[in-house]
Amino acid sequence: MPRLWALCLLLASAKALPTNQLNKSCRLRAADTSTEPTCSTDINLRHIQLLEQYMLPELDACQDFYKYACGNWRSVHEAGVSAMSLSGARIDQRYVELFERLLDEPQAPEHELPMYSKLLRYYQSCRALGKPRLRRYLEQLPHTANNHWAELLALLGRYGYHEHYVKIEVSQHNATQHMLVVQPHNYNLSLNLSMIIYKALRRHTHGLLPNLTQLRERFGQLEATLQQMARPANSSSEEETLRNYTLEQLQQELPQFNWTHALQLQLGATYPGSHQLLVDDVPALRHLIAFLNRADARLLQLYSWARFLQHLMQLPHNPLSNSHSSSRSICVQHMRKTLYLPMNFVYEHSYYGRQRAADERVIFGVFEELKTQFAQQLRRNEFGLEAPLLQALLAKVHGLRLNLGNMPANASTEFYVDCEQHWRVGGDFYENHLQSLLHYYAHLAELERSANASMRQLWYSFNHHGPGLTDNIDATPYFYCLGSIIIMPYAYVQLPFYDAQFWPALLYGDLANTLGHEMLHAFDTYFVDYDAQGVMRDYSDQLLLNDHYVDAVNCLNDSEVFMLNERAADISGTRLALQTYMQQPAERRNNGRLYFLQFAQFFCGEEADIFHDTGSKRLNYALAQMPEFAEVFQCAQGSPMNPVQRCRFW
Ligand SMILES: [Zn+2]
Repeated sequence: MPRLWALCLLLASAKALPTNQLNKSCRLRAADTSTEPTCSTDINLRHIQLLEQYMLPELDACQDFYKYACGNWRSVHEAGVSAMSLSGARIDQRYVELFERLLDEPQAPEHELPMYSKLLRYYQSCRALGKPRLRRYLEQLPHTANNHWAELLALLGRYGYHEHYVKIEVSQHNATQHMLVVQPHNYNLSLNLSMIIYKALRRHTHGLLPNLTQLRERFGQLEATLQQMARPANSSSEEETLRNYTLEQLQQELPQFNWTHALQLQLGATYPGSHQLLVDDVPALRHLIAFLNRADARLLQLYSWARFLQHLMQLPHNPLSNSHSSSRSICVQHMRKTLYLPMNFVYEHSYYGRQRAADERVIFGVFEELKTQFAQQLRRNEFGLEAPLLQALLAKVHGLRLNLGNMPANASTEFYVDCEQHWRVGGDFYENHLQSLLHYYAHLAELERSANASMRQLWYSFNHHGPGLTDNIDATPYFYCLGSIIIMPYAYVQLPFYDAQFWPALLYGDLANTLGHEMLHAFDTYFVDYDAQGVMRDYSDQLLLNDHYVDAVNCLNDSEVFMLNERAADISGTRLALQTYMQQPAERRNNGRLYFLQFAQFFCGEEADIFHDTGSKRLNYALAQMPEFAEVFQCAQGSPMNPVQRCRFW
């Protein structure tokens, strides 16, 4: 009985998606790949069956395309699951299998390669975690010469923590430069003195501590004072108060703080007086420093420790914040955050390396087609922009870069050996976690002050994620404005989104749309302001003087829009992908349905997050703006997917 039923389903679905007229041409030639044949019919047909599994083909695509394409998603996958989250989980699973296998096979050749053995020791220390013992973090901190707030603060800064009192951090400035940034206490964050943090402090101070209520009260008063001093009097924006200073100038402006010493302690080098820094709100810093120099040194120390512990616990995927702390996949997720380069090195070596060459041919090919198409579109100059602005935008198109996977391209083994050298792995999880943070932030500091151009170039060729980056930014492809680069992570370059052997409708259906969306972020309502080198140029000051541009933005900006720049990238990216793909009328007629169904996969089950609307809203809005969609599905004028009024952007 089940078999018969399955046959009926297959027959029904064959009716939904005829494949006899599909364009089965293949971008890969046999010569391109030594191991794989050119586009396998099997891979493509199996994928089409998967798409059919999620459809409700009896519904009207012109009413609600999301329901038509993804209506059955929830009966296959549980709540909270999207194609992208499944894809990320598959990567985690591969790491778990790899580490477990290598632990069982001490003679495996991988143990001789860089990174592997340290990662395995880290993984074991995470798997061995029992109940949280937060004071272990505090025990690892180096001792300060005296109990001065600024010294402890600089020490915590080594581990990348810098949110309270006076913030000193290294951050990326543009596509080729990091800078030292000094800012007042972050008044948006506060301490929640939990019982677990209080207990760690009590043990660390051998019980010499006020009770929980009293300590909360004293921290509360301290915090209120700091926030009041740090908050700007008028709500002026950051740009107005951020200024360039040399270290020498800063020392003259704020003599009550030994800047050279603090930088030396936090960043591990002596900086010359001519070193450039970005400094925000000097008057607020002056008040804060004067206050801190007078305040109760012991209280300041306790507050720093408590904030540091809270910060560590709040880092994405700290296994201590999870009740199943030592589970394999939680350890892997944690390690992917805190050991970005070593973990990706291993993934490239054990998994992705085999398919890289074929992927680069296919994906960079589509990327170049999209860039050419978009440059043509810009040259038509439908908004009627002034020539210099148009030239600057064209330079952005040409300057856009794409990073396939999460690693620098063409890095030598020495690069990784060198990178591994200063990374220590020791006795337990707490030590290892702190050492991994030290390793990352020491490297960042070195990048800021290094003059070695060829070394720097490699580091700026990809985006080295910090341990604090949240998942909804780095789990899917994204555009990084400061680097003018699109990151296409490992999680994306696999089924169901992509396969080098996909036929054109499947290949462009997701890949061209995803690349188009990310490319168009460089021209969305926020990121258009940065030039091809990631330098802020405020191009929108000129764009907003152009009536056609303003009308186009206003058209997108209806009462329902969640994030305007996401909608802009959706609309223009979808249009760009369509223009690139559907050049031929026959392509549109015969393969259009499959192209749009493949496009829908990315959105099936996607819930809203801090940046995005729900998948259903994004998909339906974007496709309703495309007349080609209505043509392919023969939607009546005025039906939801074929509205009378449409918006265009770029
Ligand atoms: Zn986006």
